[in-house]
Amino acid sequence: MKTGYNVAIDGPAGAGKSTVAKRVAREKGYIYVDTGAMYRAMALYLIRKGIAPDDEARIARVCREADISIEYREGEQVVLLAGENVNAFLRTEEVGNMASYSSAVPAVRKKLVELQQDLAGKADVVMDGRDIGTVVLPDADVKIYLTASSAVRAERRYLELREKGEEADLSKIEQDIIERDYRDMHREHSPLCQAPDAVLLDSSHMSIEEVVERIVSLCR
Ligand code: C5P
Repeated sequence: MKTGYNVAIDGPAGAGKSTVAKRVAREKGYIYVDTGAMYRAMALYLIRKGIAPDDEARIARVCREADISIEYREGEQVVLLAGENVNAFLRTEEVGNMASYSSAVPAVRKKLVELQQDLAGKADVVMDGRDIGTVVLPDADVKIYLTASSAVRAERRYLELREKGEEADLSKIEQDIIERDYRDMHREHSPLCQAPDAVLLDSSHMSIEEVVERIVSLCR
């Protein structure tokens, strides 16, 4: 039974979901739940086990053994893999790419959706992902589909990497984004799509503040 106030934010990679979701959560005093980090933690587990991204049968078997849990430390979501804080290892391209394959496996989704629904049942949450408004929290109080053009999303990612002093190739980043979107939107189980009752926000020409303001106003 749903008890908390639930805000669902879905959309493709790099649309600004996590930045926006964190700010909305802070303004409203809700908990931010980053479901991508859970899929990434599962991907890290599979990489450490030496499993290939296209080995669906082994992924389906091995994912059951993964011990993934979530804690909140000083307001930050911490993902634990068998008790180890793995946050620092989750945001690499290797892990993101593996996650986009392993997240298509039903056994992986079943396990993580249960964890997500459990969190949302206990607290007021802003949850972001790909299937939150459609599958995880179909009764969410506010649903947002946040998107932006692939060129804008690639440029944001490029600037983020350059700021960190990392090498980056803009056209390669855009190509990766397009391929990941395709896999997320065309997979058989829980593909990324806009829920019929979700509000569409295109952040290509909106500032973060404008997007946050819009979502907060929908929460009232
Ligand atoms: O959002 P983030 O880039 O961290 O997500 C990594 C991958 O996890 C996505 O490309 C997607 O395949 C998967 N994912 C998902 N469902 C969610 C959140 C993430 O399938 N709710």
